[in-house]
Amino acid sequence: MKTGYLIDMDGVIYRENQLISGAAEFVEAMNATGTPFLFLTNNSAPTPEDLAVRMKHLGIPGLSARHFYTSALNTADFLSETHPNCTAYVLGEGGLLTALHERKIHNDAISPSYVVVGEGSISAEKLTKAHEWIERGARLLATNPDNWCPVSSEKTRPGAGAAAAYLEASTGRRAYYLGKPNGYMFHRARVKLAELARREPENVVMIGDTMETDIRGAVEVGMRSFLVLSGSTRLEDVGDYVYQPTRILESVADLTEEVKTGETSDHLTSSAVASSGSYAAKSGYRHQTDHLAFHKPRPRPAMTKQL
Ligand SMILES: [Mg+2]
Repeated sequence: MKTGYLIDMDGVIYRENQLISGAAEFVEAMNATGTPFLFLTNNSAPTPEDLAVRMKHLGIPGLSARHFYTSALNTADFLSETHPNCTAYVLGEGGLLTALHERKIHNDAISPSYVVVGEGSISAEKLTKAHEWIERGARLLATNPDNWCPVSSEKTRPGAGAAAAYLEASTGRRAYYLGKPNGYMFHRARVKLAELARREPENVVMIGDTMETDIRGAVEVGMRSFLVLSGSTRLEDVGDYVYQPTRILESVADLTEEVKTGETSDHLTSSAVASSGSYAAKSGYRHQTDHLAFHKPRPRPAMTKQL
């Protein structure tokens, strides 16, 4: 049985509205060889159908809803597994509302068991309502921990982590964050990949561009992980993390030949490592869960001699 791939999208397949060079050929090779794959995203706003349309417009046709697993689907899976028939007051967009509806987690503005925070524009009025429900005992759940998300090389937007942090501050309650790097996201994605492949692939590899989410989550569930340098991580920063990827690649293009031939390269790490041109050169924690990340902050403070 072939290796199956869980693949992050932003920074791996595309950046902004541009396909990363070689990404279309990589997906084509997986399709042609029957290699199981599933795209994973922390963005809870779009539905899987929306993502298939986006990929088609970017130049990767032939994908359908079953090829995508979002943090919204993960949230719906989590609630239907751990608390069937619960209800939720939802701060989020179509992808989250649809996913919850499909799992029979109904919207409740009278006595919700959960406040679920997802990506998207959130009004002060909805935040106030959510605050009141949490004070009355509703549990606080966020689809993903991203404080901000890249929109372009010079622009970001607030993420679900930022909205959850607002409610954490106002209520004194801690949110539970699903999505990457939460192991439940990787666990359910692996189950879905096995369903797609009709049997469990021998190896499952996570391919991602972010150490704190893609690589950390994979390591923590015992999954192999390939870091690509086409997104948010610079090669010189990788050594600062306690957890390390199985391989480092310039981009997914490095894997196309391997997928075609079915033979794993002997090289642990691509020899072609270029500067990544990162758009994530931004101060502050990118994810609400990053305070639990064990990496050395940069720049390193100067050593001072104790007197
Ligand atoms: Mg990414």
